[in-house]
Amino acid sequence: MRQTVIFDFDGVIHSYTSGWKGADVIPDEPVEGIAEAIKQIRRVYFVVVVSTRCYQPGGIEAIKQWLDKHGIEVDDVTHEKPPAIVQIDDRAICFDGRPDTLLEKILTFQPWMKRRSE
Ligand SMILES: [Mg+2]
Repeated sequence: MRQTVIFDFDGVIHSYTSGWKGADVIPDEPVEGIAEAIKQIRRVYFVVVVSTRCYQPGGIEAIKQWLDKHGIEVDDVTHEKPPAIVQIDDRAICFDGRPDTLLEKILTFQPWMKRRSE
């Protein structure tokens, strides 16, 4: 059984340049190179997309249709986080065992796309 890697959707797979338009509205292109990366990762791991879109009506279907349209194959799309070895998310801080640095990291946090455009 392959181990699971969790992928966030917006800002990791979907480029999300237009921002939030609704759970079932996915207007933007894939992040450059993400289809190839997921293909490669799936040779070793089970890839599960976990998104808050999936809590809302039409969200799961919209993600599945969008993935299909862009030729991106994954193993599951869900709102429920399965046990996984790692998560890929554009809005996460990788905890390094230093609770004392967390508030500063939160206060100064910038997702990759914002950092890139500065
Ligand atoms: Mg995200």
